[in-house]
Amino acid sequence: MTGLAVLGSTGSIGLSTLDVVRRNADRFRIEVLTARSNHGLLLDQCLEFRPRLAVLADPGHLQEFEAALGAAGLPTRAAAGREALEEAVALDEVRFVMAAIVGAAGLPSTLAAARAGKRVLLANKEAAVMAGPLLLRAVRENGAELIPIDSEHNAVFQCLVGDGPEAGADVLRILLTASGGPFLDRDPATLAQVTPDEACAHPNWEMGRKISVDSATMMNKGLEVIEACHLFEVPVDRVGVVIHPQSIVHSLVQFRDGSTLAQLGDPDMRTPIAHAMGWPERLDSGVGALDLVAAGRFDFRAPDTVRFPCLGLALEAAGRGGAAPVILNAANEVAVAAFLAAEVPFTAISGIIEAVLNDYSAPDPADLDQILAVDARARGIAAETIERFRF
Ligand code: NAD
Ligand code: MG
Repeated sequence: MTGLAVLGSTGSIGLSTLDVVRRNADRFRIEVLTARSNHGLLLDQCLEFRPRLAVLADPGHLQEFEAALGAAGLPTRAAAGREALEEAVALDEVRFVMAAIVGAAGLPSTLAAARAGKRVLLANKEAAVMAGPLLLRAVRENGAELIPIDSEHNAVFQCLVGDGPEAGADVLRILLTASGGPFLDRDPATLAQVTPDEACAHPNWEMGRKISVDSATMMNKGLEVIEACHLFEVPVDRVGVVIHPQSIVHSLVQFRDGSTLAQLGDPDMRTPIAHAMGWPERLDSGVGALDLVAAGRFDFRAPDTVRFPCLGLALEAAGRGGAAPVILNAANEVAVAAFLAAEVPFTAISGIIEAVLNDYSAPDPADLDQILAVDARARGIAAETIERFRF
Protein backbone atom coordinates (compact mmCIF):
# COMPACT_ATOMS: atom_id res chain seq x y z
CA MET A 1 0.00 0.00 0.00
CA THR A 2 1.25 3.47 -0.89
CA GLY A 3 0.51 6.13 1.72
CA LEU A 4 -0.86 9.34 0.25
CA ALA A 5 -1.24 12.86 1.63
CA VAL A 6 -3.79 15.00 -0.21
CA LEU A 7 -3.14 18.68 0.42
CA GLY A 8 -6.28 20.61 -0.52
CA SER A 9 -8.51 17.53 -0.42
CA THR A 10 -11.71 19.60 -0.41
CA GLY A 11 -10.92 21.34 -3.70
CA SER A 12 -11.52 20.34 -7.30
CA ILE A 13 -8.21 18.46 -7.71
CA GLY A 14 -8.53 17.03 -4.20
CA LEU A 15 -11.96 15.55 -4.97
CA SER A 16 -10.74 14.07 -8.27
CA THR A 17 -7.76 12.55 -6.44
CA LEU A 18 -10.02 10.89 -3.86
CA ASP A 19 -12.09 9.47 -6.70
CA VAL A 20 -8.98 7.86 -8.22
CA VAL A 21 -8.03 6.52 -4.78
CA ARG A 22 -11.51 4.95 -4.39
CA ARG A 23 -11.01 3.12 -7.68
CA ASN A 24 -7.57 1.86 -6.59
CA ALA A 25 -8.24 1.16 -2.92
CA ASP A 26 -6.03 -1.94 -3.04
CA ARG A 27 -2.97 0.21 -3.81
CA PHE A 28 -3.36 3.49 -1.96
CA ARG A 29 -4.08 4.44 1.63
CA ILE A 30 -4.97 8.00 2.56
CA GLU A 31 -2.75 9.05 5.47
CA VAL A 32 -3.34 12.83 5.45
CA LEU A 33 -6.18 15.10 4.33
CA THR A 34 -6.08 18.90 4.51
CA ALA A 35 -8.33 21.88 3.85
CA ARG A 36 -8.22 25.59 4.45
CA SER A 37 -11.46 25.90 6.44
CA ASN A 38 -14.14 23.54 5.08
CA HIS A 39 -14.21 21.34 8.19
CA GLY A 40 -17.61 19.86 7.34
CA LEU A 41 -16.41 18.31 4.10
CA LEU A 42 -13.06 17.41 5.66
CA LEU A 43 -14.94 15.48 8.38
CA ASP A 44 -16.96 13.58 5.75
CA GLN A 45 -13.70 12.68 3.99
CA CYS A 46 -12.18 11.51 7.30
CA LEU A 47 -15.23 9.30 7.92
CA GLU A 48 -14.69 7.64 4.55
CA PHE A 49 -10.88 7.37 4.41
CA ARG A 50 -9.92 7.27 8.14
CA PRO A 51 -6.59 9.13 7.69
CA ARG A 52 -3.92 9.29 10.38
CA LEU A 53 -3.98 13.10 10.35
CA ALA A 54 -6.28 15.88 9.15
CA VAL A 55 -5.04 19.47 8.96
CA LEU A 56 -7.02 22.70 8.77
CA ALA A 57 -4.80 25.52 7.50
CA ASP A 58 -7.09 28.02 9.18
CA PRO A 59 -7.14 27.24 12.94
CA GLY A 60 -10.52 28.91 13.52
CA HIS A 61 -12.56 25.68 13.70
CA LEU A 62 -9.92 23.32 15.07
CA GLN A 63 -11.61 22.58 18.41
CA GLU A 64 -15.01 21.99 16.84
CA PHE A 65 -13.40 19.73 14.23
CA GLU A 66 -11.43 17.79 16.84
CA ALA A 67 -14.57 17.25 18.88
CA ALA A 68 -16.43 15.96 15.81
CA LEU A 69 -13.62 13.51 15.00
CA GLY A 70 -13.69 12.26 18.60
CA ALA A 71 -17.48 11.95 18.64
CA ALA A 72 -17.31 9.86 15.46
CA GLY A 73 -14.78 7.54 17.13
CA LEU A 74 -12.20 8.15 14.42
CA PRO A 75 -8.47 7.44 14.91
CA THR A 76 -7.66 10.69 13.07
CA ARG A 77 -5.56 13.33 14.82
CA ALA A 78 -6.37 16.96 14.01
CA ALA A 79 -3.92 19.82 13.63
CA ALA A 80 -3.89 23.36 12.23
CA GLY A 81 -1.54 25.88 10.67
CA ARG A 82 1.32 26.07 8.19
CA GLU A 83 3.80 24.10 10.32
CA ALA A 84 1.29 21.28 10.71
CA LEU A 85 1.04 21.04 6.90
CA GLU A 86 4.81 20.83 6.59
CA GLU A 87 5.02 18.15 9.29
CA ALA A 88 2.17 16.18 7.71
CA VAL A 89 3.94 15.73 4.37
CA ALA A 90 7.08 14.48 6.09
CA LEU A 91 5.36 11.60 7.96
CA ASP A 92 7.07 8.23 7.37
CA GLU A 93 3.78 6.64 6.30
CA VAL A 94 3.37 9.19 3.49
CA ARG A 95 5.10 8.26 0.23
CA PHE A 96 3.15 10.38 -2.27
CA VAL A 97 1.99 13.96 -1.73
CA MET A 98 -0.74 15.46 -3.88
CA ALA A 99 0.09 19.18 -3.79
CA ALA A 100 -3.32 20.66 -4.62
CA ILE A 101 -3.56 23.76 -2.48
CA VAL A 102 -4.31 26.79 -4.65
CA GLY A 103 -1.88 29.70 -4.86
CA ALA A 104 1.29 30.74 -3.08
CA ALA A 105 -0.18 29.27 0.12
CA GLY A 106 0.79 25.85 -1.23
CA LEU A 107 4.47 26.61 -1.74
CA PRO A 108 5.90 25.80 1.75
CA SER A 109 4.18 22.40 2.00
CA THR A 110 5.03 21.49 -1.61
CA LEU A 111 8.68 22.29 -1.00
CA ALA A 112 8.58 20.42 2.32
CA ALA A 113 7.32 17.32 0.48
CA ALA A 114 10.27 17.50 -1.93
CA ARG A 115 12.70 18.02 0.95
CA ALA A 116 11.23 14.96 2.68
CA GLY A 117 12.03 12.87 -0.41
CA LYS A 118 8.41 12.10 -1.38
CA ARG A 119 6.84 11.68 -4.81
CA VAL A 120 5.31 15.12 -5.36
CA LEU A 121 2.20 15.12 -7.56
CA LEU A 122 2.30 18.79 -8.50
CA ALA A 123 -1.04 20.49 -9.17
CA ASN A 124 -0.09 23.68 -7.29
CA LYS A 125 1.38 25.44 -10.34
CA GLU A 126 1.94 28.67 -8.41
CA ALA A 127 4.65 26.85 -6.40
CA ALA A 128 6.46 25.94 -9.63
CA VAL A 129 6.11 29.51 -10.94
CA MET A 130 7.46 31.07 -7.74
CA ALA A 131 10.15 28.58 -6.84
CA GLY A 132 10.74 26.17 -9.72
CA PRO A 133 14.56 25.99 -9.49
CA LEU A 134 14.43 25.67 -5.68
CA LEU A 135 11.84 22.90 -5.96
CA LEU A 136 13.85 20.96 -8.56
CA ARG A 137 16.99 21.25 -6.48
CA ALA A 138 15.11 19.92 -3.42
CA VAL A 139 13.84 17.01 -5.52
CA ARG A 140 17.36 16.14 -6.73
CA GLU A 141 19.10 16.55 -3.38
CA ASN A 142 16.57 14.46 -1.47
CA GLY A 143 15.82 11.65 -3.90
CA ALA A 144 12.26 12.89 -4.35
CA GLU A 145 10.20 12.63 -7.56
CA LEU A 146 8.11 15.33 -9.19
CA ILE A 147 5.32 14.46 -11.60
CA PRO A 148 3.22 17.29 -12.97
CA ILE A 149 -0.57 17.11 -12.62
CA ASP A 150 -1.38 20.21 -14.65
CA SER A 151 -2.81 18.53 -17.76
CA GLU A 152 -0.44 20.29 -20.18
CA HIS A 153 2.69 19.49 -18.20
CA ASN A 154 1.57 15.96 -17.53
CA ALA A 155 1.09 15.61 -21.29
CA VAL A 156 4.61 16.94 -21.93
CA PHE A 157 6.00 14.59 -19.27
CA GLN A 158 4.30 11.69 -21.06
CA CYS A 159 5.64 12.83 -24.46
CA LEU A 160 9.19 13.04 -23.12
CA VAL A 161 9.23 9.61 -21.46
CA GLY A 162 11.33 7.20 -23.47
CA ASP A 163 13.60 9.85 -24.92
CA GLY A 164 16.23 9.38 -22.25
CA PRO A 165 18.16 11.97 -20.30
CA GLU A 166 19.61 13.53 -23.47
CA ALA A 167 16.16 14.40 -24.82
CA GLY A 168 16.82 18.06 -24.03
CA ALA A 169 19.01 18.63 -27.08
CA ASP A 170 16.52 16.86 -29.34
CA VAL A 171 13.52 18.91 -28.17
CA LEU A 172 12.92 21.89 -30.41
CA ARG A 173 9.84 23.19 -28.72
CA ILE A 174 7.20 22.43 -26.12
CA LEU A 175 3.75 23.49 -27.30
CA LEU A 176 1.15 24.13 -24.60
CA THR A 177 -2.46 24.05 -25.73
CA ALA A 178 -4.99 26.54 -24.33
CA SER A 179 -8.77 26.39 -24.60
CA GLY A 180 -8.97 30.20 -24.67
CA GLY A 181 -11.51 30.07 -21.82
CA PRO A 182 -15.05 31.45 -21.82
CA PHE A 183 -14.14 34.76 -23.50
CA LEU A 184 -12.19 33.47 -26.50
CA ASP A 185 -14.59 35.04 -29.00
CA ARG A 186 -16.41 37.57 -26.86
CA ASP A 187 -16.45 41.21 -27.98
CA PRO A 188 -13.55 42.78 -25.99
CA ALA A 189 -15.64 45.95 -25.51
CA THR A 190 -17.99 43.97 -23.23
CA LEU A 191 -15.30 42.42 -21.00
CA ALA A 192 -15.45 45.21 -18.41
CA GLN A 193 -18.98 44.07 -17.51
CA VAL A 194 -18.46 40.33 -17.06
CA THR A 195 -19.38 38.89 -13.66
CA PRO A 196 -17.34 36.44 -11.55
CA ASP A 197 -19.83 33.67 -12.37
CA GLU A 198 -19.45 34.29 -16.12
CA ALA A 199 -15.66 34.25 -15.80
CA CYS A 200 -15.81 30.98 -13.85
CA ALA A 201 -18.04 29.23 -16.41
CA HIS A 202 -15.25 27.42 -18.24
CA PRO A 203 -16.42 25.71 -21.44
CA ASN A 204 -14.47 22.43 -20.92
CA TRP A 205 -13.10 22.10 -17.38
CA GLU A 206 -14.68 22.29 -13.91
CA MET A 207 -12.13 23.87 -11.61
CA GLY A 208 -11.74 26.07 -8.53
CA ARG A 209 -12.66 29.75 -8.94
CA LYS A 210 -9.13 31.19 -8.94
CA ILE A 211 -7.83 29.00 -11.77
CA SER A 212 -11.11 29.51 -13.63
CA VAL A 213 -10.58 33.28 -13.66
CA ASP A 214 -6.96 32.69 -14.67
CA SER A 215 -8.26 30.68 -17.63
CA ALA A 216 -10.61 33.51 -18.60
CA THR A 217 -7.75 36.06 -18.59
CA MET A 218 -5.31 33.49 -20.02
CA MET A 219 -2.99 34.22 -17.11
CA ASN A 220 -3.34 30.49 -16.51
CA LYS A 221 -1.46 29.79 -19.76
CA GLY A 222 1.12 32.42 -18.87
CA LEU A 223 1.72 30.76 -15.50
CA GLU A 224 1.92 27.43 -17.32
CA VAL A 225 4.62 28.73 -19.70
CA ILE A 226 6.71 29.70 -16.65
CA GLU A 227 5.88 26.36 -15.01
CA ALA A 228 7.08 24.53 -18.16
CA CYS A 229 10.33 26.53 -18.32
CA HIS A 230 11.03 25.60 -14.69
CA LEU A 231 9.92 21.95 -14.71
CA PHE A 232 11.49 20.99 -18.04
CA GLU A 233 14.44 23.42 -17.77
CA VAL A 234 13.96 25.06 -21.16
CA PRO A 235 14.22 28.76 -22.04
CA VAL A 236 10.98 30.64 -22.68
CA ASP A 237 11.63 30.93 -26.44
CA ARG A 238 11.28 27.14 -26.64
CA VAL A 239 7.79 27.07 -25.09
CA GLY A 240 4.92 27.99 -27.41
CA VAL A 241 1.19 28.43 -26.85
CA VAL A 242 -1.49 27.36 -29.30
CA ILE A 243 -5.24 27.87 -28.87
CA HIS A 244 -7.17 24.61 -29.10
CA PRO A 245 -10.79 25.25 -28.06
CA GLN A 246 -11.76 21.55 -27.70
CA SER A 247 -9.21 20.83 -24.90
CA ILE A 248 -8.55 17.30 -26.15
CA VAL A 249 -4.92 17.62 -27.27
CA HIS A 250 -3.40 18.40 -23.87
CA SER A 251 0.02 19.53 -25.15
CA LEU A 252 2.76 18.58 -27.59
CA VAL A 253 6.53 18.21 -27.89
CA GLN A 254 8.34 18.87 -31.18
CA PHE A 255 11.63 17.06 -31.83
CA ARG A 256 14.41 17.97 -34.23
CA ASP A 257 13.65 15.08 -36.60
CA GLY A 258 10.26 16.56 -37.50
CA SER A 259 8.29 14.42 -35.03
CA THR A 260 5.58 16.04 -32.96
CA LEU A 261 4.23 13.95 -30.07
CA ALA A 262 1.00 14.79 -28.29
CA GLN A 263 -1.10 13.37 -25.45
CA LEU A 264 -4.86 13.33 -25.99
CA GLY A 265 -7.88 12.56 -23.85
CA ASP A 266 -11.22 13.87 -22.65
CA PRO A 267 -10.79 16.92 -20.40
CA ASP A 268 -10.94 15.19 -17.01
CA MET A 269 -8.19 15.73 -14.43
CA ARG A 270 -8.50 12.15 -13.19
CA THR A 271 -6.35 11.11 -16.18
CA PRO A 272 -3.22 13.09 -15.24
CA ILE A 273 -3.84 12.34 -11.54
CA ALA A 274 -4.01 8.57 -12.18
CA HIS A 275 -1.00 8.81 -14.48
CA ALA A 276 1.11 10.48 -11.81
CA MET A 277 -0.09 8.12 -9.06
CA GLY A 278 0.53 5.01 -11.13
CA TRP A 279 3.67 5.98 -13.04
CA PRO A 280 5.40 4.04 -14.53
CA GLU A 281 2.29 1.84 -14.50
CA ARG A 282 -1.21 2.83 -15.63
CA LEU A 283 -4.25 2.87 -13.32
CA ASP A 284 -8.00 2.92 -13.79
CA SER A 285 -8.95 6.61 -13.61
CA GLY A 286 -12.66 6.36 -14.34
CA VAL A 287 -12.12 8.21 -17.64
CA GLY A 288 -13.11 6.34 -20.79
CA ALA A 289 -11.13 6.12 -24.01
CA LEU A 290 -11.38 9.11 -26.32
CA ASP A 291 -13.99 8.80 -29.08
CA LEU A 292 -12.30 10.50 -32.04
CA VAL A 293 -15.33 10.33 -34.30
CA ALA A 294 -17.52 11.94 -31.63
CA ALA A 295 -14.84 14.62 -31.14
CA GLY A 296 -15.01 15.20 -34.89
CA ARG A 297 -12.42 17.92 -35.34
CA PHE A 298 -9.56 19.67 -33.60
CA ASP A 299 -9.00 23.38 -34.22
CA PHE A 300 -5.83 25.34 -33.59
CA ARG A 301 -5.09 29.05 -33.78
CA ALA A 302 -2.54 31.56 -32.56
CA PRO A 303 -3.07 33.25 -29.17
CA ASP A 304 -3.91 36.98 -29.09
CA THR A 305 -1.98 38.94 -26.45
CA VAL A 306 -3.95 42.11 -27.24
CA ARG A 307 -7.24 40.46 -26.27
CA PHE A 308 -5.48 38.65 -23.41
CA PRO A 309 -2.91 41.11 -21.97
CA CYS A 310 -2.26 38.83 -18.96
CA LEU A 311 -0.65 36.30 -21.27
CA GLY A 312 1.73 38.97 -22.60
CA LEU A 313 2.58 40.11 -19.06
CA ALA A 314 3.39 36.54 -18.03
CA LEU A 315 5.61 35.97 -21.07
CA GLU A 316 7.45 39.17 -20.24
CA ALA A 317 7.94 38.05 -16.62
CA ALA A 318 9.12 34.66 -17.85
CA GLY A 319 11.76 36.39 -19.98
CA ARG A 320 12.91 38.58 -17.07
CA GLY A 321 13.08 35.62 -14.68
CA GLY A 322 14.36 36.00 -11.11
CA ALA A 323 11.79 37.73 -8.93
CA ALA A 324 9.50 38.75 -11.81
CA PRO A 325 7.41 35.53 -11.85
CA VAL A 326 6.96 35.81 -8.05
CA ILE A 327 5.74 39.41 -8.40
CA LEU A 328 3.48 38.52 -11.33
CA ASN A 329 1.93 35.62 -9.42
CA ALA A 330 1.36 37.64 -6.24
CA ALA A 331 -0.21 40.57 -8.11
CA ASN A 332 -2.42 38.16 -10.02
CA GLU A 333 -3.65 36.42 -6.87
CA VAL A 334 -4.56 39.74 -5.27
CA ALA A 335 -6.22 41.07 -8.45
CA VAL A 336 -8.22 37.88 -9.03
CA ALA A 337 -9.41 37.84 -5.39
CA ALA A 338 -10.56 41.46 -5.79
CA PHE A 339 -12.41 40.60 -9.01
CA LEU A 340 -14.07 37.57 -7.37
CA ALA A 341 -15.12 39.81 -4.47
CA ALA A 342 -16.73 42.21 -7.00
CA GLU A 343 -14.36 45.03 -6.03
CA VAL A 344 -12.81 45.61 -9.47
CA PRO A 345 -13.89 44.86 -13.05
CA PHE A 346 -12.52 41.89 -14.97
CA THR A 347 -10.46 44.18 -17.21
CA ALA A 348 -8.68 45.67 -14.16
CA ILE A 349 -6.87 42.39 -13.47
CA SER A 350 -4.25 42.97 -16.16
CA GLY A 351 -3.96 46.67 -15.29
CA ILE A 352 -3.22 45.90 -11.65
CA ILE A 353 -0.59 43.29 -12.53
CA GLU A 354 1.09 45.56 -15.06
CA ALA A 355 1.26 48.43 -12.54
CA VAL A 356 2.79 46.19 -9.84
CA LEU A 357 5.37 44.80 -12.28
CA ASN A 358 6.29 48.37 -13.26
CA ASP A 359 6.44 49.67 -9.67
CA TYR A 360 8.36 46.87 -8.03
CA SER A 361 11.46 44.90 -8.90
CA ALA A 362 13.62 42.90 -6.51
CA PRO A 363 16.95 41.05 -6.65
CA ASP A 364 16.73 37.36 -7.54
CA PRO A 365 15.40 35.57 -4.46
CA ALA A 366 17.69 32.72 -3.43
CA ASP A 367 15.68 30.77 -0.87
CA LEU A 368 12.13 30.23 0.39
CA ASP A 369 12.24 33.12 2.87
CA GLN A 370 13.37 35.56 0.17
CA ILE A 371 10.70 34.30 -2.22
CA LEU A 372 8.01 34.72 0.46
CA ALA A 373 9.33 38.22 1.23
CA VAL A 374 9.03 39.26 -2.43
CA ASP A 375 5.56 37.70 -2.54
CA ALA A 376 4.47 39.63 0.56
CA ARG A 377 5.83 42.96 -0.71
CA ALA A 378 4.19 42.48 -4.13
CA ARG A 379 0.86 41.71 -2.41
CA GLY A 380 1.14 44.93 -0.41
CA ILE A 381 1.75 46.98 -3.55
CA ALA A 382 -1.07 45.18 -5.36
CA ALA A 383 -3.48 45.95 -2.51
CA GLU A 384 -2.62 49.67 -2.79
CA THR A 385 -2.90 49.53 -6.59
CA ILE A 386 -6.41 48.07 -6.38
CA GLU A 387 -7.67 51.36 -4.92
CA ARG A 388 -7.14 52.99 -8.34
CA PHE A 389 -9.19 50.32 -10.12
CA ARG A 390 -12.24 49.96 -7.85
CA PHE A 391 -15.71 50.21 -9.37
P1 NAD B 1 -9.85 24.74 -5.36
O1 NAD B 1 -10.08 26.16 -5.00
O2 NAD B 1 -10.99 23.94 -5.86
O3 NAD B 1 -9.24 23.96 -4.09
C1 NAD B 1 -8.19 24.48 -3.36
C2 NAD B 1 -7.90 23.62 -2.14
O4 NAD B 1 -6.85 24.26 -1.40
C3 NAD B 1 -9.07 23.46 -1.18
O5 NAD B 1 -9.00 22.19 -0.56
C4 NAD B 1 -8.80 24.54 -0.14
O6 NAD B 1 -9.38 24.24 1.14
C5 NAD B 1 -7.30 24.56 -0.08
N1 NAD B 1 -6.77 25.88 0.28
C6 NAD B 1 -7.13 27.06 -0.26
N2 NAD B 1 -6.43 28.06 0.30
C7 NAD B 1 -5.62 27.50 1.21
C8 NAD B 1 -4.66 28.02 2.13
N3 NAD B 1 -4.43 29.33 2.24
N4 NAD B 1 -3.98 27.13 2.90
C9 NAD B 1 -4.21 25.81 2.82
N5 NAD B 1 -5.13 25.27 1.99
C10 NAD B 1 -5.81 26.10 1.19
O7 NAD B 1 -8.65 24.73 -6.41
P2 NAD B 1 -8.32 23.63 -7.54
O8 NAD B 1 -9.04 23.97 -8.77
O9 NAD B 1 -8.45 22.27 -6.96
O10 NAD B 1 -6.78 23.95 -7.81
C11 NAD B 1 -5.75 23.52 -6.94
C12 NAD B 1 -4.41 23.74 -7.62
O11 NAD B 1 -4.35 22.89 -8.75
C13 NAD B 1 -4.21 25.17 -8.14
O12 NAD B 1 -2.87 25.53 -8.02
C14 NAD B 1 -4.57 25.06 -9.61
O13 NAD B 1 -3.91 26.00 -10.42
C15 NAD B 1 -4.10 23.65 -9.93
N6 NAD B 1 -4.79 23.03 -11.07
C16 NAD B 1 -6.11 22.78 -11.00
C17 NAD B 1 -6.77 22.20 -12.07
C18 NAD B 1 -8.24 21.87 -12.00
O14 NAD B 1 -8.77 21.25 -12.94
N7 NAD B 1 -8.94 22.22 -10.96
C19 NAD B 1 -6.06 21.89 -13.24
C20 NAD B 1 -4.68 22.16 -13.28
C21 NAD B 1 -4.06 22.73 -12.17
MG1 MG C 1 -3.44 23.39 -17.15
